[in-house]
Amino acid sequence: MSKGALSVDTEHLFPIIKKWLYSEKDIFIREVISNACDAITKHRRLISLGEAVDDSTNYRITVTADKDEHTITVKDNGIGMNAEEVEKYINNIALSGAVEFISKYENESNSGIIGHFGLGFYSMFIVAEKVEMFTRSYKGGEGVHWICDTDGSFESEAIERDGHGTEIIMHVSDDELAYLDNEKLKSILERYCAFMPYDIALIDGDKETVVNDTNPLWQRNPSEVSDEEYNEFYKKVFNDYEEPLFKLHIVADYPLNFKGVLFIPKRKTGYDSTESELRLFYNSVFVADNIKGACPEHLVNFRGVLDCPELPLNVSRSYLQNDAYVRKIASHISKKVADKLNSMFNNDRESLEKNWRDMKPYFEYACMRDEKFGDKVRNSILMEKSGGGYITVSEYLDGKDEGTVYYTNDPEGQSYYLGLFAEKNIDVVVFDNVIDNSFAQYFESKNDKIKFRRIDSGFDDSKADESKSLADIFKSAVGKENFEITFVSLGDEGAAALISLPEESRRFADMMRMYSLNQGVDSFNMPNSEALAVNVDNPIIKRLESLGADDETAKDIAKHIYLSAVLLSRTLTSDEAKEFVRLNNKLI
Ligand code: ADP
Repeated sequence: MSKGALSVDTEHLFPIIKKWLYSEKDIFIREVISNACDAITKHRRLISLGEAVDDSTNYRITVTADKDEHTITVKDNGIGMNAEEVEKYINNIALSGAVEFISKYENESNSGIIGHFGLGFYSMFIVAEKVEMFTRSYKGGEGVHWICDTDGSFESEAIERDGHGTEIIMHVSDDELAYLDNEKLKSILERYCAFMPYDIALIDGDKETVVNDTNPLWQRNPSEVSDEEYNEFYKKVFNDYEEPLFKLHIVADYPLNFKGVLFIPKRKTGYDSTESELRLFYNSVFVADNIKGACPEHLVNFRGVLDCPELPLNVSRSYLQNDAYVRKIASHISKKVADKLNSMFNNDRESLEKNWRDMKPYFEYACMRDEKFGDKVRNSILMEKSGGGYITVSEYLDGKDEGTVYYTNDPEGQSYYLGLFAEKNIDVVVFDNVIDNSFAQYFESKNDKIKFRRIDSGFDDSKADESKSLADIFKSAVGKENFEITFVSLGDEGAAALISLPEESRRFADMMRMYSLNQGVDSFNMPNSEALAVNVDNPIIKRLESLGADDETAKDIAKHIYLSAVLLSRTLTSDEAKEFVRLNNKLI
């Protein structure tokens, strides 16, 4: 039997470990189990090097909680340790490593010490008041029984033991007994150890549940993973019942070395500005969630897993967030997402179109937020045609880099206008998301020869000076100053007049409305920029002109025509509706 205690002042060691790691207490499981995995990996490696005998070990790790004894036991069949190694790796390195850690970070504010590595073994004292270890080296010889108390004093003795590997018994302190609950243990194991490389079995009486997937999908060759497997993986890892809209498997080996799978989740509300959700792994060991900066900021709402075996591991989250390596990963991800979008556009348009409606806002947003990304993929952004199908700006313009793209933001409400475009065989695209309009402006800003115009923004062939007397009749009937009247030829079956809303002033009004909405103030009283396009082919218009501006009936008819035009473009206000009914009664 040998006894010992740390030379460094350790009375405070364990309370400090507890206090610091309080918010991330659960990580002690990850630490113990990753040590167990490492011990197994080392054994396999020694066999492959011919330095250990291949004894056909069925490698596994078991976790058992005993509610009577208040213990959690983790057992592995890895390399194990002899007395010398326990002294060297546990008493000296692990324990003094912990002390070094404490003294180094003692003065750092408790800004979420997570994803920490290096405190490993001693993190067990987060929940344990005593840790016991039985271990025997693959080299044979005597085994070791070692016990360490919460004050840092340890004892060890030689024991008889078969096989190789390590069994660690944590004697859980009275205030942490909740950890003895199997459900709780299972959920922690599933969070931190879900993808560790050897079977981890939670033992509950006669029941054994393997909690991990030893061959995580991101470690596999993308060509060997089916769509269904990606979908299942996504649903399981992110606890979603919907399939993702977009998936991307990245296997980067040079100059960066990382693997990952990214997804765009399906959201009922479409794009919203919630943060992306990226899980960071280090050789399949979970490190941290949502490290800011690991997912490019413009790729909002993306979800995924990243495994970075080269990540400079450190204790603090803020360190990772500022790390240049993490930033490089983010920019690589951005590039890969852009490549994938372009390649789907070029080679698998059908799949792209399938989910495009839901995905579009994410990509439009990304283009606007990140110039490089936008420049790469702008021409792969599809627009939905009002008659069905999808088209890019360039396709719309027949490959020319100038021209006008006509859009509707409300196919139902603007159906009369849509009809006019259909007659002329001009495609109209549907912008039914606020972000579509911003995207159109972004596109215009990239090429000032391309214009986007809503289908009710006026008529290309309208003329301002067709008939002064008709213009006077409408002006006095509608009773608005600066009311613009233009004339257009829409055939004798066409509506007598239509409202047009010049693109620029309407956009401005929309913007002010959005602004007042965001500021929570009542909607600005925007000057109404509606203009009237009078159809000179319509027989009523022809008759109206002959009546003249002073005629009362002519005024009533003109007002009625105006309100009918409004009706084809938007909902009438209550005053307009009353007036419309009054005029109907009168004129009929
Ligand atoms: P780290 O794992 O970062 O080296 P730890 O404090 O977790 O630090 O562990 C210290 C050392 O103790 C390990 O490097 C390893 O040599 C040894 N060790 C810990 N757990 C085991 C185990 N289950 N089997 C064999 N050796 C172990």
